[in-house]
Amino acid sequence: MAMALPRFRGSFTQQEPIPAEGIEAANEVMRSGRLHRYNAMPGEEPETVLLEREYARWQGASYCLAVTSGGQAMQIALRAAGVKPGDPVLSNAFTLAPVPGAIAAVGAQPVLVEITEELVIDLDDLKAKAAASGANVLMLSNMRGHLCDMDQLTALVDALGLTMIEDCAHTMGARWRGRLSGNFGLAGCFSSQTYKHINSGEGGFLTSDDPDFMARATILSGSYMLFDRHGAGPDASAFESAKYEMPNMSARMDNLRAALLRPQLANLDDAIKRWNERYNTVASALVTQPAIALRTRPDAEAFVGSSIQFRLPALPEAGVRAFLKSTADRGVELKWFGSREPVAFTSAHQSWRYVPAQDLPQTDAVLAQLFDMRLPLTFSIDDCRLIGQHIVEAAQEVLADA
Ligand SMILES: *Cc1c(COP(=O)(O)O)cnc(C)c1O
Repeated sequence: MAMALPRFRGSFTQQEPIPAEGIEAANEVMRSGRLHRYNAMPGEEPETVLLEREYARWQGASYCLAVTSGGQAMQIALRAAGVKPGDPVLSNAFTLAPVPGAIAAVGAQPVLVEITEELVIDLDDLKAKAAASGANVLMLSNMRGHLCDMDQLTALVDALGLTMIEDCAHTMGARWRGRLSGNFGLAGCFSSQTYKHINSGEGGFLTSDDPDFMARATILSGSYMLFDRHGAGPDASAFESAKYEMPNMSARMDNLRAALLRPQLANLDDAIKRWNERYNTVASALVTQPAIALRTRPDAEAFVGSSIQFRLPALPEAGVRAFLKSTADRGVELKWFGSREPVAFTSAHQSWRYVPAQDLPQTDAVLAQLFDMRLPLTFSIDDCRLIGQHIVEAAQEVLADA
């Protein structure tokens, strides 16, 4: 008999500590008392300003605005892009609640687009729903870090005359043919909430190359008339009409969070390598079990493996509970996207009842087989090997019983 694997004892929600320089910089902000982004001494460049400049440079975007959350970045982007109450906004159906939430927050109507077995937006359905709804805007959610064929998507978006905003909460640092996720449409929206690629508890960024859009976004974020005190914003001339027309929605980032983020941004390329080592370790265990369907990532896609998803197409729905129980008993915390009820961070379109009910049979079939797991950097490579072995064993066990 094979030796039983030791139970996995790590925590799937344990992030790494804030780097020492970040803690020191945050202490300095607290000692100064100048936490608000516009509270600076003459000639002083506050942490928020420095962070915006550094993020714009890292992202290769002309402009960057730091805000309170990824959800706020999306709401601001939709409003600054001209979305009005009642307008239809396209979005892929496989995403998390902040995405339909941002669309609902501007009073718009989410039009959900099917996903494929590759977990990305279905371009045929996008074309059909764009025509049927008359929508002008696509909020593309690069859910769990999976990029669709961005060449085909951008060609389709151009042909349909859509404005695209990218939700990059899971693709900060991911690339398609070398181009960073977030740089394919009008704007990129990023999150620095604890479970994302950089961690300030809460926080977000909006990036764009469009000065008029960014001026509207800056006023919306709550800049008052202090919009010249930004690190990577457009010239004052871009604000001529925005400053009268845009409401102040108070969603500014503060200097304390910015101080925590700057050293993490400086280390992000290294963190991406470490995530991918962990992802590849789990993936190389999972591929030894033919019943596990793992997405083959196209050569053009340079992803960030901060989480991993797989399907078990041969497992009947009745076996799912047994599989989740077996993995949980082994200490491996999997999320299942097929649940009828929203659980923890996970929910599906049926439970977004503020969105008009939509028929998405293809997405439902994919989600019914889909399992999801975080890979925090506090896991060692050995941890990842063990997790992969546990999943393979649990799958074998339940498939033998099914
Ligand atoms: C986390 C997340 C966001 C943004 O979240 P905030 O908590 O508002 O920063 C947006 N989209 C997806 C898919 C997310 O997981």
